[in-house]
Amino acid sequence: MRKDPSTLMRPERLPESASWPVVTPLMPSVVYGSDTPDRLDAQYEGRVAGYTYAREGHPNADVVARRIDALEGGVGGLVLGSGMAAVSAVLMGLLKAGDHVLGGDQLYGRSLRLMAQDLPRLGIATSLADPCDVGAMAAAIRPETRMILVELVSNPTLRVADLAGISALAKERGILLVVDNTFTTPRAFRPFDMGADIVIHSVTKLLAGHSDVTLGYVCARDPVLQKAIYDFSVTTGMTPSPFDCWLAERGMLSFELRFDRAEATAVRLADHLAGLAGVARVLYPMRGDHPDAARARAVLGNRGCNMVSFELEGGRAAANAFAHAASGVAFAPTLGDVGTTLSHPASSSHRALSPEGRAALGISEGFFRVSVGLEDPEALCAEFSKGVAAARAAVAG
Ligand SMILES: *Cc1c(COP(=O)(O)O)cnc(C)c1O
Repeated sequence: MRKDPSTLMRPERLPESASWPVVTPLMPSVVYGSDTPDRLDAQYEGRVAGYTYAREGHPNADVVARRIDALEGGVGGLVLGSGMAAVSAVLMGLLKAGDHVLGGDQLYGRSLRLMAQDLPRLGIATSLADPCDVGAMAAAIRPETRMILVELVSNPTLRVADLAGISALAKERGILLVVDNTFTTPRAFRPFDMGADIVIHSVTKLLAGHSDVTLGYVCARDPVLQKAIYDFSVTTGMTPSPFDCWLAERGMLSFELRFDRAEATAVRLADHLAGLAGVARVLYPMRGDHPDAARARAVLGNRGCNMVSFELEGGRAAANAFAHAASGVAFAPTLGDVGTTLSHPASSSHRALSPEGRAALGISEGFFRVSVGLEDPEALCAEFSKGVAAARAAVAG
């Protein structure tokens, strides 16, 4: 029997329509109504599909998750409130006191911090090794090593990990291989195809692509592991905002176009920078002079990434002059935006390291990392020329 609408705070159903919206509706509802307790039982037992409470899942998150699943070749992935939520859910949701996790030594800064500070506090041992050197990774494995966490392309020096070697090693020793695929994205590289057990993304970056949402994604090949990650994320409240998911879906509609364009411009910019006086060094994995060029080609084929790093002659003075003069490029520590962004690791992501520690990674005061966006390639190159010329002038005094 239909209730009297005047007694209802909310409409019982949306207005009927034989047609439907072409855009995914934004569904901020925290809670979902059910018909009866029996029906709710059926839902919790998985006999019928349905949402209950937004911390446990909501339609806007699932729409985004299914899109990334399709790109990565995964099933049943999960969207969480940030990339670091995804990293944390994997490490803390699957490991226990007494376990050991081995990480690449150039992981994203907060992943390194999680490994160095938070996991040890919980009794989970961690260590780091160079993922470009599979022998070093093998040597760091212990009897209690349960997981290896790596990124294919490192930040900010753009070294390319020996993922084929690490994958074989992980299989041989029965260790879970977790790949953070944020930099390369499934457009260039699909970790599951190379034997990864779990794939992580900061959706905040290239996938959503507009620097207006913070989101993460995680997908484990084994549904038992995925369920454990899901349960941990629900318990610890790593829920993404429906509006963020809605924006991310909109961003992802153009992901492939954006990635291809940014990648092509990155190739152009890397070549342009290499030809400028005042630039000491350019790092781009698809260039013949990159230390891992052969491996990059083997793993990525003809694909690359939108990240280019370079080093100016003249240290901090040159860096200041460059950032000031190249004002058309946002000096902002993120990546994957529609606009080109510039980051200076010595004053941001790598500021906690000593100058010697940075030098060991090849990060000087003149080192910049560029996340190439969608600007006109020639205009962008001109902006960098302007910045490099100003840097040279500053150093010449
Ligand atoms: C940004 C980033 C993260 C963290 O993602 P957030 O969405 O900022 O939490 C993790 N890994 C990599 C490689 C990243 O670039």
